[in-house]
Amino acid sequence: MRCGIIGAGLGGLLAGIGLFKGGNDVKIFEKLPYPGGRFTNMEYRGYQLSTGALHMIPHADNGPLAMLLNTLGIDAKIVPSKPHGLFRVNGRDYLSHELLSLFSIKEKVRLTRLMADLKFGSGDDTPYRDWLKKRIDNRLAYKITDSFCGWSLSIDSSRISSNEFIAITKNINRLAGPGIPIGGCKGITDRLVKMFERSGGTIYLKSPVKSINIDDGRATGISTDEGEFDFDIIISNIGHVATVELCGKKNFKKDYIDSLRNVQESAGIKISVGCSKPMLGHSGVLFTPQTERINGLNEVTNTDPSLAPKGKHLLMSHQMLDTRDTGRNVKKEIDLGIEDLYNLFPDFDRYCEILMVQTYRNGWPVNRSASGHYIDPQSPVEGLYYVGDSIKPCGWMETEGVATGVEIALDKILGRGWRLGGG
Ligand SMILES: Cc1cc2nc3c(=O)[nH]c(=O)nc-3n(C[C@H](O)[C@H](O)[C@H](O)COP(=O)(O)OP(=O)(O)OC[C@H]3O[C@@H](n4cnc5c(N)ncnc54)[C@H](O)[C@@H]3O)c2cc1C
Repeated sequence: MRCGIIGAGLGGLLAGIGLFKGGNDVKIFEKLPYPGGRFTNMEYRGYQLSTGALHMIPHADNGPLAMLLNTLGIDAKIVPSKPHGLFRVNGRDYLSHELLSLFSIKEKVRLTRLMADLKFGSGDDTPYRDWLKKRIDNRLAYKITDSFCGWSLSIDSSRISSNEFIAITKNINRLAGPGIPIGGCKGITDRLVKMFERSGGTIYLKSPVKSINIDDGRATGISTDEGEFDFDIIISNIGHVATVELCGKKNFKKDYIDSLRNVQESAGIKISVGCSKPMLGHSGVLFTPQTERINGLNEVTNTDPSLAPKGKHLLMSHQMLDTRDTGRNVKKEIDLGIEDLYNLFPDFDRYCEILMVQTYRNGWPVNRSASGHYIDPQSPVEGLYYVGDSIKPCGWMETEGVATGVEIALDKILGRGWRLGGG
């Protein structure tokens, strides 16, 4: 089959290699001058900053992304973080199981029941915050939950269903995590690009796709500035909204367009900081429930020192940005984030300098659809499929969701045999 992929992000690259394994001819079209999308590095004064992700994989070397990389023959190394996470409360850092010591005996009983519900129960469409409030009335418990949601999903607990949150918790209990890829995000996407090109695939950079050609309800090709390309299958890595635009809305039923309107992106702000000494001193996440805006930080150079100049460290903070509140002043949100850094680290000026502040929203978000909105990888147009973080299946965060979605898309296109290289 002749396969065309729109977008050379993580989703497009994984799908491209999978299609090759299934014995197909694959071309990728990328509008930017580099591949990797929101999952690659950009060098800045010797630091390996990123175009998006915080150089972390949610379930380290044990999750769907690591498994898919292995199936595709990619030898990327993902080092599990130690500890996985700490929570800073009243100036002290707690492991998750130590947090119970912060609550009264009555609340400890409630929290223990809540943990059991998370482990063995199931949820529904109601927001997780409501689910939590039915079980415990405690502000610190809500803030701890929101710091986890803000860091991991870039939404707060009122925007995720109890069903999705519980599924995510079960996967964390089962698979643990997170971990840091050696070489950062680029350590993975560079290897994917090399494998794709070695297999005979072509990536056309600086080649934005202008339209998807549809003939009698079937996707037949794409148009770019270089000309028209005919394909048997088209895979879009650019999200459902942009894909529908490229096809033209007239090719979809109104119900479908309406259903996509409910799907919202998640937005956020990342602050990258260069440090002359380790500010965290470990490779896990520091969740910050008591800050004004920042949800958490990591210091990836404790695992991979090559991500900063010799003797320096790369510290990154992340804070969710609520785009439903259109009046929200982004500059003010950034200032509040920076103020948090100064409050968290009283010696900030002495050891740290802010390298870059990046805002992610409007077409370059944290997630094209916030966790909990599953979209079928098979679009209603015959021969047109989606991959990427707009189609994360239930329970799978971030790039684990991208990998799971790619597998489902490939199964639909090729049948399960592609894993064996047989098509
Ligand atoms: C601040 C931040 C922190 C994050 N932290 C983490 C983390 O630590 N761990 C984690 O697992 N995930 C994290 N994520 C999420 C992760 O980065 C994304 O889920 C993942 O990179 C999405 O990959 P994708 O392939 O779906 O999309 P993208 O990377 O966006 O790829 C889509 C590609 O399509 C291209 N494109 C768009 N339109 C066109 C067109 N018309 N023609 C051709 N090409 C086009 C784009 O340029 C882009 O390269 C984070 C994201 C952000 C923003």
